[in-house]
Amino acid sequence: MAQDDETRKLSHGIFLNMGIYGGYDSEMEKCLEKNSQEICKDVGIEFLLIKTNTCLDLYRGAHGPVVPSIMMGTILSLQKLFANYLYSVDFCAEEQFFDVVHAARYDWLNTLCFSTQNVRFWPIGLEATRMDKVKFLANYEFSQNHTAVCINSKANSMNCSTCAKCTETMVELDSVGKLELYDKVFDVKHYKKNIPYYMSYTFMKKWGKEEAATDSVREYRKRKIHFSLKTYVWAFCKYVRRGFRAANPNRIKVEEIIWNEIENKQ
Ligand SMILES: [Zn+2]
Repeated sequence: MAQDDETRKLSHGIFLNMGIYGGYDSEMEKCLEKNSQEICKDVGIEFLLIKTNTCLDLYRGAHGPVVPSIMMGTILSLQKLFANYLYSVDFCAEEQFFDVVHAARYDWLNTLCFSTQNVRFWPIGLEATRMDKVKFLANYEFSQNHTAVCINSKANSMNCSTCAKCTETMVELDSVGKLELYDKVFDVKHYKKNIPYYMSYTFMKKWGKEEAATDSVREYRKRKIHFSLKTYVWAFCKYVRRGFRAANPNRIKVEEIIWNEIENKQ
C-alpha cells in the first residue's frame, strides 16, 4: 500500500478488552472502555472496541509473556483496515533486553517481527525514557484529563491513587512539579497529606534499582526537594520485610509461576 499522507493520518483508536482486569464485563474494563471512547471523541478519531479471549481462555496463564503478541495479533486480524499502527512502547531502547517474563521489554523486536507487507508497526516511545514521556505528556491538558492508570469507579478520583501503579505515576508527576495539574484523575490532596507513604515505596524501589523510581528521586534532587527521616525509615522497613528486594511479592509469585510453566514445557 502506498505510504502517502492519507495512510499516515491518525484515524482510529482501539480499546482492547482482554478481560485481565476482573473479566470482560468488569467495572474496570467498562471504565477503561468509556475513557477510551471519550479520548477518541476528543481527538476526532473513530473508536473501535475489540474483545479477545486469547489471554484468558486460550493461553490461560500470567499475561506478561504474551501481551505484545495478543495486541499486535489483534491488529493483524484487521490488516485490511490499517497500513500503519503506532505501538506504544514502555521502555526506551537502552532499557530493552530479552526478558522471558515480560515480553514488553523487547518491543523493538516484537514490532519488527509482527510487521507484514500490509501492516507496519511503529514502536512509539523507543527514543524516550518513561520520565522523558511524563515530562512531555504533562504539558498537555488532554493528558491531565484522561490519564488512566487503574480506573476505579469507587475511588474519589478516576484512579484509585494508592496502588503501586498509581503511586509510581503520581510520584513521577510530583517529581517534575506537575501533579497538581492532574487533580481530575488523581486524589492529589491524599498524596500531599501522605507523602511519606508514597515516597517510602519510591525509595525502596530505587534501592531495588527500578528505573522509574531512580528517575523520580533524581528529579526531586534536581529541584532540591528533601524528605523526612520518617520516609527513609518506612522505606527501609519495607525493604527488609520484602527480603531486601523491591519487587512486589505478588509479582514475584507470578514470575515463579511463569518460570515453572516454561520449565515444565521443556
Ligand atoms: Zn491505582
